[in-house]
Amino acid sequence: MKKSIFTLMVLSIATGVTHAQFKLNTKSIGAAEKGVKAATFSDADAAKLAKESVDWMDKNNPVAADNDPYTVRLNKIFGKHKNEDGLTLNYKVYKVVDINAFACADGSIRVFSSLMDMMSDEELLAVIGHEIGHVKNHDTRDAIRDAYKRAAVADAAGSQSGVVSNLTDSQLGAMANAMLESKYSRKQESQADDYGYDFMKKHQYNVMAMASAFKKLQSLSSGAKQSNMEKMMSSHPDSGARAKAVEEKAKKDGLYK
Ligand SMILES: [Zn+2]
Repeated sequence: MKKSIFTLMVLSIATGVTHAQFKLNTKSIGAAEKGVKAATFSDADAAKLAKESVDWMDKNNPVAADNDPYTVRLNKIFGKHKNEDGLTLNYKVYKVVDINAFACADGSIRVFSSLMDMMSDEELLAVIGHEIGHVKNHDTRDAIRDAYKRAAVADAAGSQSGVVSNLTDSQLGAMANAMLESKYSRKQESQADDYGYDFMKKHQYNVMAMASAFKKLQSLSSGAKQSNMEKMMSSHPDSGARAKAVEEKAKKDGLYK
C-alpha cells in the first residue's frame, strides 16, 4: 500500500506535475429540508441538476486540458464508448491526488488522474463500465434526487411545477458535496458490477481486468489514511469479494485466465 502511494508521488514529482486534492464545497446550506416529492423529480430534473453540479465541480477542480497526456489516454480508452448503450456520455480527467471515478445522471463521468496512474487501460475500462452501469440503471438519478433533498435546496425549486430552477453557486457546491457523499446500495453496486462485466464481455475486453482492478482497490482500502473520496470508494462492497465474483463469472463463461 505505502509503496504504491510512494510510487505515485515519485511519478508526480518526476513529471513535475502538482496534483491538487479534489475540491468540494463543504459548507452546508442549513435550510430546512423541504421535500421535493420523488414522484415529481423527473429524469430531466435529475439530468439538469447533475449537469449544473458537474459544471460546478469542473470549474472548481483542475481539469486536464485537451492535449494533456491524461486526456489523450482517456480519449483512446473511452472515446469509442461515448454513445454506449443508447446513452450520451461525456468524460473528463481531474488531476487530483484522490483515487476515484464517478458518474452523474446527465451522463458525465469523471476519472481522477491518480486512479489512471494505478490502472491499466483495460482495468480503467472495467471501472468505466461499472460507472456506466450506474447511469444506465438510474442509480445516478436516485442519488441526485436524494442529494437534492439532503442539501436542502428544495426551496430553490419551483415547488408547484416540480421543475428544478437555477441554483446559486453555493447551493451547487452543497449539491455536489451531497451527491458525492451519497452511497449506493449493495444491490446497486453489484448490479453495476454485473453491467461492467457484461460491458467488458460485449466489447471483447479481458474481463479479468475487472478482477485485477478490484484487487488494486482492495490493497488501497486496507491501508493508508483515507481521503474523503477514498472513503466513498470503500463504501462499495468489499473489493476482494467483488474480484471473486468476477472470477466466478469468468470461469462460467470460459474467460478465466
Ligand atoms: Zn459504484
